Amino acid sequence: MSRQKSRIRLLVLLCAALACALPARADKIVLKNGRQIIAYNVREDGDKVRYETSAGELSLPKSIVDHIEKGGLMPMAQSPAAAAASLNLAPPMAEPSADAPGIDQAAVHDGTVDRAYIAKMETDANAGSGGAKAKAVLAHHAAAQFELAHGDLEHALADERTALTFAPEQPVLLMNVAYLYLKNSEFKQSLDYLEKAKRFAPDNADVYKLEGWSYYGMNKQAQAVEAWKKALALRPDADTQAALDKALKDKAEEDSYRENESAHFQLKYNGASEPALARDVLRTLEMHFEAISSELGYTPPEPIGVVLYTQQGFADITQAPGWVGALNDGRIRVPVQGLTSVNSELSRVLKHELTHSFIGQKTRGRAPTWIQEGLAQWMEGKRSDENAAVLVQVYDNGQAASLGNLEGSWMGLPAEVVHYAYAWSLANVEYIVETQGMGDMERILGRIAEGASTEQAVRDVLHGGYGDLMQSTAGYLKKSYGR
Ligand SMILES: [Zn+2]
Repeated sequence: MSRQKSRIRLLVLLCAALACALPARADKIVLKNGRQIIAYNVREDGDKVRYETSAGELSLPKSIVDHIEKGGLMPMAQSPAAAAASLNLAPPMAEPSADAPGIDQAAVHDGTVDRAYIAKMETDANAGSGGAKAKAVLAHHAAAQFELAHGDLEHALADERTALTFAPEQPVLLMNVAYLYLKNSEFKQSLDYLEKAKRFAPDNADVYKLEGWSYYGMNKQAQAVEAWKKALALRPDADTQAALDKALKDKAEEDSYRENESAHFQLKYNGASEPALARDVLRTLEMHFEAISSELGYTPPEPIGVVLYTQQGFADITQAPGWVGALNDGRIRVPVQGLTSVNSELSRVLKHELTHSFIGQKTRGRAPTWIQEGLAQWMEGKRSDENAAVLVQVYDNGQAASLGNLEGSWMGLPAEVVHYAYAWSLANVEYIVETQGMGDMERILGRIAEGASTEQAVRDVLHGGYGDLMQSTAGYLKKSYGR
């Protein structure tokens, strides 16, 4: 922990040197009508609230602002899939019942899973009695819980599924397998197991709670709402209630929206925006869809949701485009107030966000942030030129951020570090694409989709780990952009 802290502090110092082309810290302005605006450098000034957007400074009357949430960085899109997968939900219940004390300790001890012991339990179970089967179930279940606690979803799933083979009608095991699939963003499989669990435990609130999350991850809000309502009817639960409230609020907001669609997109837009703009956005998205699809050799199977926000009522105040709040949380959300057609900057933003959708679907939500942001920037047309010199200097000083530290959410990083993270991520992706080819990037994404860690995927495709990749990237920057 403290080592990470000092590394970040080091980065902050370094990043002060970076040309900061990216917007800095984002604050959230929450209006009395419930709408939220993500903006930069929000501050109160008399009876106004002033804030910055890429289009310059804007202001709102303070009387319509409920409160301001300071801090935070660029909203890192968290998709419903990611939200569902990272749900803060305890695995459903404790132990599959069996009268066999000590099995847990025998299956997992000294910080590791005792495979020999578990194999013996399995042999006994296959040989015979119901009692032996119950022990094998407990042993595998204990191993699965241990692996889950250590972030090893793959083995946890394998163990829990093996446990299930010895007790295929145990609701607790069915729900645990469903839970693990859910954590792994495999929502369809999760639902299959929940369907079975329902047969044996039709009145279990946790089944419906998990079902709601699976539907939510699949972007099926109506079914999620239905499942959570059932869960709450069976048992009051604060997590479920909060999830239901949020889903209902989203739904109410969007029910007033108009819809339009094209081959690959479902577009919703506020009644106040121009139908011509909606058509133009769809046309632009279809164009980018074809381009990204042929670059990545991949076509997302699911239609992509897009929501255009006009923040109605502020069109008069925001007489300029202000899409700083564009984000991709499973759907592409773009504020477009003041626009009547797609200009080049909006087009870039759409392509960037669309790239996130492609990567998300291709890797089932497993891509690390540095690849997501690096590739999205590359696709929108950004290159490393303006940052190359500083990135090289940071690298040569031995102070480059390891890509391993840029895999997770960047939410908690200081703004300066985020600038650096964007630039460094772009540089590494740019190196891969420009020198190894997009085919290699495609293969890396493919390996990640199969469950490999990102560094392993990089190693499999580029035959070197993060250290090698970063070194090559620094070399590439020197060569391509001079010093
Ligand atoms: Zn992005």
